[in-house]
Amino acid sequence: MEQCIPATAGFSSDKWEIDPSELTFMKELGSGEFGVVRLGKWRAQHKVAIKAIREGAMSEEDFIEEAKVMMRLCHPKLVQIYGVCTTQHPICIVLEFMENGSLLQVLRHHGNSLECVRLLAMCQDVCEGMQYLEHSNFIHRDLAARNCMVNEKNVVKVCDFGMARYVLDDQYTSSMGSRFPVKWSPPEVLHYNKFSSKSDVWSFGVLMWEVFSEGRTPFGNRPNAEVVDEVTQGVRLYKPHKAPTNIYNIMYECWHERPQGRPSFSSLLQSIKDIIEEFTL
Ligand code: ADP
Repeated sequence: MEQCIPATAGFSSDKWEIDPSELTFMKELGSGEFGVVRLGKWRAQHKVAIKAIREGAMSEEDFIEEAKVMMRLCHPKLVQIYGVCTTQHPICIVLEFMENGSLLQVLRHHGNSLECVRLLAMCQDVCEGMQYLEHSNFIHRDLAARNCMVNEKNVVKVCDFGMARYVLDDQYTSSMGSRFPVKWSPPEVLHYNKFSSKSDVWSFGVLMWEVFSEGRTPFGNRPNAEVVDEVTQGVRLYKPHKAPTNIYNIMYECWHERPQGRPSFSSLLQSIKDIIEEFTL
């Protein structure tokens, strides 16, 4: 299961469809936009995470079509989608199990014991997953620490890529909605709904800020409307206490007003690797 190719090899006869009778449901791991996530076992042996989709939470037909594309995305820094169960309700998504839960939880519980170079290595993991998505021309649309997961070896992997498109909740999908990720979004998304790999780069800068502030909420409890106004006027997040200037410069580059002015994930990855090398010299 650690190996990627092919993503669902041995998991099901019909490539992406997993037989629900081969799944055992175990303890609850958490819940999110789509419903409850449980630990489970496939064929009584392989640990998996099973996301059961709450009735009315997802535009299911569109998702099932796109799931075929998503399952082909395969990289050591992406949470693998093993398959789906769509023959009964609720439909389920079967995912790689990530023992330590979300990156946000890890930062909030253990952030203060993590050194700067370790925090940067977490950003590197995410950047590698995002570089792969960028090369695959796949836009994440909701990159944030809450949507990255950490496994038992403390490897961080990007999760929930592309899933924002299937949420059926106006408060989440409209940039004016109370649950839209305004604090992770660049001006062109807030004003014109224009998503791209460069809007993911902006979000990645905010994710780096979350990492170096040990899981604080960007812009604190400021109302979204105020954040939209300020970001549009050019105000940016301050330097988090654990970030040296060269690391703050990397996140700051991600928040260039124009998408073309922001670096690519490939270039971000190089900058991060260069700093990690300085640390380990
Ligand atoms: P949604 O996509 O419905 O918003 P999330 O992906 O945010 O749901 O998952 C909700 C919670 O479930 C996470 O915060 C995490 O604690 C847990 N979880 C989700 N996916 C996994 C996974 N692959 N492995 C372990 N825990 C997971």
